Amino acid sequence: MAGVLIAWFRNDLRLHDNPALQRAIARCHRDGLSLLPVAWHGPSAPGATRWGFDRVGPHRQAFRAQALAGLGQALRDRGSDLMVCHGAFAQVLADLARQVRAVGLVAQAIDAPEEQAELAALRAQGLDVDAVEHGGLFDAAQLPWAPEAVPEVFTAFRQGVERLGLKPPAPLPVPATLPPWPDSVPRPAVAVADGLLPPGATDGRSSFPYGLPAWRGDEAAAREHLGRYLASDRPSVYKATRNALTGRDFASHWSPWLANGALSVRQVVVELRAMEAERGASDGSYWLWFELLWREHFRWMLRRHGRALFRTQGLRQSAPSAAYDAEAFARWCEGRTGLPLVDAAMRELRHTGFLSNRLRQIVASALIHELRGDWRAGAAWFEACLIDFDVHSNQGNWAYIAGVGTDPRGGRHFNLDRQTREHDPDGDYQRLWAAGAAG
Ligand SMILES: Cc1cc2nc3c(=O)[nH]c(=O)nc-3n(C[C@H](O)[C@H](O)[C@H](O)COP(=O)(O)OP(=O)(O)OC[C@H]3O[C@@H](n4cnc5c(N)ncnc54)[C@H](O)[C@@H]3O)c2cc1C
Repeated sequence: MAGVLIAWFRNDLRLHDNPALQRAIARCHRDGLSLLPVAWHGPSAPGATRWGFDRVGPHRQAFRAQALAGLGQALRDRGSDLMVCHGAFAQVLADLARQVRAVGLVAQAIDAPEEQAELAALRAQGLDVDAVEHGGLFDAAQLPWAPEAVPEVFTAFRQGVERLGLKPPAPLPVPATLPPWPDSVPRPAVAVADGLLPPGATDGRSSFPYGLPAWRGDEAAAREHLGRYLASDRPSVYKATRNALTGRDFASHWSPWLANGALSVRQVVVELRAMEAERGASDGSYWLWFELLWREHFRWMLRRHGRALFRTQGLRQSAPSAAYDAEAFARWCEGRTGLPLVDAAMRELRHTGFLSNRLRQIVASALIHELRGDWRAGAAWFEACLIDFDVHSNQGNWAYIAGVGTDPRGGRHFNLDRQTREHDPDGDYQRLWAAGAAG
């Protein structure tokens, strides 16, 4: 073999519809290279947050470990393998590249400052990095707008997409074979450990008990879940049920797999459309598409505005009148604010790594508008806790509620009494996650 090409799996832990992997395979075939698939795993990339906790908390680590275990097995089934690295990743990867004399590295491009800095650090070490844009619905070339002119208001974006009838490109198939593992690199002795689960992973109250086989973080479970959900009657009632606080089928629950990339959003749309063709479209199935467009819009907004969306004032001229108070923030994180619905939700989030959309809105609004806390600390806590953490959707939603993103309406303040009356009138949810019962 003439040399080694590294394929770095980032938030695309799958074989189906993986353009970065396909690019790497094509280059190996063209240039007679062997392929070294690698991934990073650990609590923090590249270091702990400025707020004093890890970027990747125990739930997201455990869920990601499941995805990595599945990916490793799928690669081994095709004659290859997966090297999982830990620690200061850019340095580890650059050292590895030197050690195996890699001719280059192919990886998913992620349009967010720290993720871009990771690739920049590798390039600075002399590595030839080929970054492949993917993870969203549309390619830049399909859009009627340049990336820096994608509409800032969601409705204008959606209407533009729908007026043109834009369809995502067809998903790419799972590669039948893979280039050989490099002769010079020993096969990993042990696969990633995916058996150590925090207690909440199997909690019967969880809306996403990823400790159970059907909810594991890997590609096989993701695709089975997608098929099962679309074969059920749930999509047709999605619009009516999506604001529920608990349960396992009030919404699609696709987000954790979309976030770690075990599931491709283009595959989701193909199967959603096939279901509509067979059983008819409904308000619910349209609304699933509508929500996927929100996800897409946040991706383009981060690409357009980058680092500015991570400032306290976001895209505004002046910062909101908020202050970071470590003690008050800790009370919010731990569910000790004295606001019963907020506290119940924060306990669920910490204990299980998942929270319904409605409760995410309520607790974010409470931190920003009730407690006058720093929205960026809240976004960082979500990043640490959520098994579906996605930098675009998380930053976008937090900035939206804080009123510092692209939406012109100036933030969203959810009235807690009203939210409680509408969504938890009998206090069932608050009792479910009451202190003491929370585990
Ligand atoms: C403060 C806050 C932070 C959030 N952080 C994240 C995050 O880190 N990762 C994440 O994936 N989602 C995030 N969301 C969006 C949303 O809460 C989740 O996508 C949704 O709850 C996931 O559950 P589901 O897959 O059952 O969604 P469904 O309701 O079934 O929706 C289907 C899909 O549409 C997309 N979607 C739905 N709602 C939104 C939304 N508001 N914004 C963007 N995409 C959406 C998701 O991909 C989701 O899987 C956040 C929302 C808020 C208010």
